[in-house]
Amino acid sequence: MSRLKIAIQKKGRLNESSLSILRECGIEIPNGAGKLIAESSNFPIDILFLRDDDIPQYVHQKVADLGIVGENVLIESRKKVSMLKKLGIAKCRLSLAIPKDIPYEGIRFFQDKTIATSYPQLLQSYLDRQAIRAQIEEISGSVEIVPGLGLAAGICDIVSSGSTLFSNGLKEVELVMKSEAVLIGSEHLEGEKALLLQQLLFRIDAVLSSKGKKYILLNAPNDKIDAIVRILPGMKSPTILPLAAKGWSSLHSVIDEDQFWEHIDELKKAGAEGILVVPIEKMIQ
Ligand code: ATP
Ligand code: MG
Repeated sequence: MSRLKIAIQKKGRLNESSLSILRECGIEIPNGAGKLIAESSNFPIDILFLRDDDIPQYVHQKVADLGIVGENVLIESRKKVSMLKKLGIAKCRLSLAIPKDIPYEGIRFFQDKTIATSYPQLLQSYLDRQAIRAQIEEISGSVEIVPGLGLAAGICDIVSSGSTLFSNGLKEVELVMKSEAVLIGSEHLEGEKALLLQQLLFRIDAVLSSKGKKYILLNAPNDKIDAIVRILPGMKSPTILPLAAKGWSSLHSVIDEDQFWEHIDELKKAGAEGILVVPIEKMIQ
C-alpha cells in the first residue's frame, strides 16, 4: 500500500495551521518536536517538515507528493506543480511600502530607485507590468528595517494588518498581490496515490465548507416563521419541528456566522426565542 507524502512548514506561521487542517481531516499526527518526518497512524500519509521556500522544489522533484505553502512562495519559486486547493489560511498581501513621511504620488515614484525584497521574481514581474525600471535588492529577512538604514527607497514585503510596517515608520503604497496558503501537488499522481489524494481532498472540502458556518436552532410562534425565514437569507429551507407548546415551532438551519451577528436584534424583534448557535465540525455538500 503506498503512502502519500505531504511537505509542510517546519517552523513559522504556516506550521500550526497546516497541522490543524490535517488534524481536522481526522488525520492523527504524532507530536514529535524537531523531527523531520512524522507518520500518521490512521491515514497513509507521512508529513515532511521543511522550510517553506523549499516546498515547491521538493514537490516538483516528487520527493513529496503534496505541499502546503503561501501562493507568494509558490509563484516566486516558478516551479511547475499543480495548485490543488486554496486553504483560506495565512491570508496576506505582498505590498510596496515607503517611509511614511515621504510624499507618494503613484508608481512612478519607484522609477530608477532601489527596492528591497525577499520576492524578486514577483516584484520584477509587477514592475514590468507597470513599465517601471527599478533596482531590486534581494534580502532574506527583516526587509522592513532597510529604508531606515538608507539602503533602499522602499520595500516589497508581506503585510497583513500593517502594524509591522507602521512600527517601522513605513506606509503601504501599492498592492502587488494577494496571497493565501494553498495545497500543491506534483503533476500526474497516479494509481493508489491519486485515490488517496481524492480521499484527502474530500475531507479538506468538508472541513473548509464548515468554516464560518454555524448551526442555528430557535423557537418561534407559528405565525412568525415566514418573517424569521426572510430575515436570515441563509435559511433557505429550514427544518421546522412542532414544539410541545401549542402554536410554536422550532427552526433549525445552517447560516454564516457573520449573518447571525448582523441579524440577531431583528430576529428577537420578529419573535424568535431560545436561540442556540452551535459549531459545525464538518459539512459534506
Ligand atoms: P521559513 O523559515 O519556513 O522560510 P518564512 O519566514 O519564510 O519561513 P513565515 O513568516 O513563517 O515564512 O510565513 C509563511 C507564509 O505565511 C508566508 O509565505 C505568507 O504566505 C504567510 N504570511 C506571512 N506573514 C503573514 C502575516 N503577517 N499574516 C498572514 N500570513 C502571513
Ligand atoms: Mg521562507
